[in-house]
Amino acid sequence: MKKETLLATSATGSDTHRGAVNVPPYRASTILFPNLAEFEKADLGQSPHPSYGRFGTPSTEALEQAIAALEGADHSIVTASGLSAIAVSLFAFLNSGDHLLMVDSVYGPTRRLCDYELKRLGIETTYYNPEIGAGISAMIRENTKVVFVESPGSLTFEMQDIPAISKAAHAKGVIVVADNTWATPIYIDPFALGIDISVHSATKYINGHSDVMMGVISCKEEHFKKLQLTFRNFGMCPSGDNCYLALRGLRTLSVRMKQHYENGVAVARWLQGRPEVAQVLHPALPGSPGHDIWKRDFTGAASLFSIILKKNYPHKSLAAMMDGLEYFGMGYSWGGFESLLITTHPEKIRTSNKWEHEGNVLRIHVGLENTDDLIADLENGFGRLG
Ligand SMILES: *Cc1c(COP(=O)(O)O)cnc(C)c1O
Repeated sequence: MKKETLLATSATGSDTHRGAVNVPPYRASTILFPNLAEFEKADLGQSPHPSYGRFGTPSTEALEQAIAALEGADHSIVTASGLSAIAVSLFAFLNSGDHLLMVDSVYGPTRRLCDYELKRLGIETTYYNPEIGAGISAMIRENTKVVFVESPGSLTFEMQDIPAISKAAHAKGVIVVADNTWATPIYIDPFALGIDISVHSATKYINGHSDVMMGVISCKEEHFKKLQLTFRNFGMCPSGDNCYLALRGLRTLSVRMKQHYENGVAVARWLQGRPEVAQVLHPALPGSPGHDIWKRDFTGAASLFSIILKKNYPHKSLAAMMDGLEYFGMGYSWGGFESLLITTHPEKIRTSNKWEHEGNVLRIHVGLENTDDLIADLENGFGRLG
């Protein structure tokens, strides 16, 4: 079954909810058992259904089933945020004294999780160059347990050679955890590329409407028990209402992504022709860094990318440009229906190799508006930049 068909047919409520197409939002803490025998079975972890609201409800299970089917996973676990999905994935496989290889272009809060929480517990992180490929092998130590990839990085958009990295990691018994938020389950098949654990911030495109915080972890059978145990111990559960909303968003993921892909490329191409722009960092554009890897491993692209300006414009000019934009909001997150534009500062973050560009870096999320309107808005903005 193709992904579009899976989206329309997975985890509907028709068998279990008297024909209703959608599984309703369950609000539950206490789950009652019919008798002592059933209660005791749940106590021993032998009940087929979650025994407490924190462990999930039919709303949670429906969303998990739909995402697992889409990713080709044996199991998915939904969590309270993308960051909590990352935290569970790292804590499940790392112990005190272990070593983690983390991509240098990683999402900022993931970096802080490593630099504060993991470090505090005696887990060492080494940041590696995103373009390292099979060279990762030389950085794997005796105590390395996890290689974490995020391709492309969500500020600077380097593509990673995930099959080469996975091969090198597996040769030394190391597992690969991937943040696949950018690609979404529509444009990447994580397990075919060698990824062991696929993580998403469902806050972004999966929910797609800028009104839910949620995360997803998907895996094959061999890693499920460990992940489920850590997930349950941390108590990072999403609400039934949010699971309902995220599943509602998921139903239209493939059509939304088609439009995001098209809109993103249209705006990126226009930006390539602007005299103020030194470089457009969009993996789907021929000539962009990592384009060949993107073409080999992905089946489409998100509408999140960055541009590097030709020079470092004074703060006043940048404010004039950005404050006057009509359709591009200034705010964190992305993957909703609306366009966004923010400044970023990779030169302050990177450690594996220096960020060599001089000009301002702007990150753009292209929403579902008409691209003629968006381009006119940006054109006026460049006029104000001076
Ligand atoms: C937003 C984001 C996260 C974190 O997700 P939240 O749902 O905001 O916690 C993780 N990774 C990437 C790439 C993101 O963009």
